Amino acid sequence: MGVELLLQLHPPALPPDPVLEAWMDRMLRRAERVGRHGEIPVAAVLLDARGRALGWGSNRRERAGDPLGHAELVALRQAAAARGDWRFNDCTLLVTLEPCPMCAGALIQARVGTVVFGAPDPKRGALGGCLDLSGDPSSHHRIQVMGGLREAEARQQLESWFRRRRAEVRRRRQPPGPKGGRPEARWRTD
Ligand SMILES: [Zn+2]
Repeated sequence: MGVELLLQLHPPALPPDPVLEAWMDRMLRRAERVGRHGEIPVAAVLLDARGRALGWGSNRRERAGDPLGHAELVALRQAAAARGDWRFNDCTLLVTLEPCPMCAGALIQARVGTVVFGAPDPKRGALGGCLDLSGDPSSHHRIQVMGGLREAEARQQLESWFRRRRAEVRRRRQPPGPKGGRPEARWRTD
């Protein structure tokens, strides 16, 4: 029996929809929080077949000064440490934005069974949005992909974050006004 046929007979288990919806709600709230700390608002959680969290994370590239600080990689590392294993065929990675090529590559390496994402990313998404790394002939592992869970909310969260950031950059570029300029916009609420 070939590997393809085996995969068809035993597709990765997907937690039921209400569980995924609840986790997506939670991740959107978490993403909103890190967005207020200057990070692009993205959050991810790795779930086992019963919908229990093995690891989760949010973007921490700015705060950690770490180019690998994407939400998916933070969640993967935490899950691998908790499980003492690097294989996640039976697991679902849920993330608010379609993974970039770096994260999609890591998810393939980790043999993640399923990826569920909120907003598709037609510019940099690597699970079908811009390119499809998992479906590429070079890939040794095929991920089951489900996009568009809470898509409108996930997309709107990102769009309003980028809109705020562009406005902030414009304000900083403006020379100080006659009364000493505008006060700094406050990103941080803590
Ligand atoms: Zn990424």
